[in-house]
Amino acid sequence: MLNSLDEMMELHWLFDMLNHIDLGLVVVDQNYKITLWNSFMENHSGKSSSIAKDQSLFNLFPEIDKEWLQRKLDNVIALRTSIFISWEQRPYLFAFKSYRPITGLADNMYQNITLRPLANADGTVKHVCIAVYDVTDTATHKQALSSANRQLEQLSKTDALTELHNRGSLEKALGIIFSAYQKKPSSTHSLVIADLDFFKKINDQYGHPIGDIVLKEVAKLMMASTRKGDFIGRYGGEEFVVLLPNTPSSGAISFCEKLRQKIEAMTIKTDKGDIKVTMSLGVAQLMEEDKTSSAWLVRADEALYKAKASGRNQTFG
Ligand code: GH3
Ligand code: MG
Ligand code: MG
Repeated sequence: MLNSLDEMMELHWLFDMLNHIDLGLVVVDQNYKITLWNSFMENHSGKSSSIAKDQSLFNLFPEIDKEWLQRKLDNVIALRTSIFISWEQRPYLFAFKSYRPITGLADNMYQNITLRPLANADGTVKHVCIAVYDVTDTATHKQALSSANRQLEQLSKTDALTELHNRGSLEKALGIIFSAYQKKPSSTHSLVIADLDFFKKINDQYGHPIGDIVLKEVAKLMMASTRKGDFIGRYGGEEFVVLLPNTPSSGAISFCEKLRQKIEAMTIKTDKGDIKVTMSLGVAQLMEEDKTSSAWLVRADEALYKAKASGRNQTFG
């Protein structure tokens, strides 16, 4: 059983933890006067609790959209319900600096905000708790990825035969994903190199122009097998590269196996008869050990080599 001294101690601890939690906590009354200001708010605003307390929130932060926030706070008190404001609606409520020197992507701290009604002992609601969550990492990561995706979409498709991306844009795409990974090393990106099996024989048996038709049909099937955001190119000859952003190697391997089976099942009809081909594929997920994007490419190529050496028409990763 807890005695009152223990309860006091618990309360003291709880208050100490709340004061030092990595979360902004502000309490305002119905006149928007600050009655609580924790150390997160002190540290990021540079305004101490003794300065902030008893001041109007809007006097202390004139840059806040007063009309908009007043309406929200009034609603929380009147309706006794919480309101959530995401950084995607408004990047921040308090203009705090963000200290992320490595990425340098954000000048201001991105914030999610919750406004919670606080009830008094008699059940009336006259105060609101404003909780400020620092979501700068999430926001910059999301923005870096969508900007990478936008850049990928803008690269032109210039391989004349297959209309896939050519080697040059493929290398640029690799560079874009490689730098997105450096900003967020916990993200997973995979690379596939695929090469048709015994393609020389097809050229030898049916002639080069028929070989070209086969390449076109394979490219079409590959295009139809990728999702939006995937990046597919002809690396040279009958070698293709597929870049799968936000995909771990397990996902890339299952993508490859589906593609491999579709190619195996396909019959290409030509003037010189029906042609069947198979494909070998190598997969590599981008790892910290890859110091350059070419190192990543080399690992995928090594996996492809193993697939060839183990009898072709298979995926290695
Ligand atoms: P492997 O299973 O080891 O890959 O055998 P392979 O015969 O496919 O060997 P490799 O990949 O080394 O050979 C590629 C061949 O693809 C060489 C060339 O005849 C053919 N090729 C390369 N580019 C083109 C092209 O644009 N059109 C046609 N028709 N054939 C091409
Ligand atoms: Mg080949
Ligand atoms: Mg080849």
